[in-house]
Amino acid sequence: MTNEDTLRLFFALPCPPEQAAAICEWRDKQGLGGRPVPAANLHMTLAFLGAQPESDLEAIRQLAADIDSPDFELVLNRLITLSKGFVCLAPTEAPPALLHLAASLAERLVALGLALDSRPYLPHMTLTRQAARMIQGAAASFSWKAERFVLYQSQNTPDGVRYRELGSWPLRASETT
Ligand code: ATP
Ligand code: MG
Repeated sequence: MTNEDTLRLFFALPCPPEQAAAICEWRDKQGLGGRPVPAANLHMTLAFLGAQPESDLEAIRQLAADIDSPDFELVLNRLITLSKGFVCLAPTEAPPALLHLAASLAERLVALGLALDSRPYLPHMTLTRQAARMIQGAAASFSWKAERFVLYQSQNTPDGVRYRELGSWPLRASETT
């Protein structure tokens, strides 16, 4: 239950504005129907915490600050449809550093006593909800370097859901070839 003492939280990779604009422009030409996600809301969830007491926020921020995980190139080039008709962009192959980051967060959140989703981690970026049809297959390719991860508060507003950034942490610069 959400009340004024709890915050609905999740960790995610933000989609940089330039790529978000390009993704939305491409998506809007695909005839997916449903409810398109606004460009400002595009993200890839790393860990969903759900409603947590505000008093736990400092411990959650500290857990994030303790993470040492390398940056990585994210390439999204596949469309998948999840349950409820969520059409999503996904990588053909999840970068090991992305899986490492998600697993590090999950491990630390569980150690803090949070109950996480037991389903295996599936990297995806939701583009449209309640799409008219199931869509799977190749998409245009969108890529960027993931250099930070963010703790968001999910807020319901009269204009729809809004994600408020409560913290941002850099990923370690890795060697490039
Ligand atoms: P709304 O639910 O209000 O339509 P939303 O789904 O964008 O909007 P949240 O439900 O707060 O907002 O979810 C925030 C992010 O966490 C989204 O990426 C969502 O897919 C993900 N998420 C929500 N619930 C879970 C869950 N039980 N397990 C894993 N990820 C979740
Ligand atoms: Mg939701």
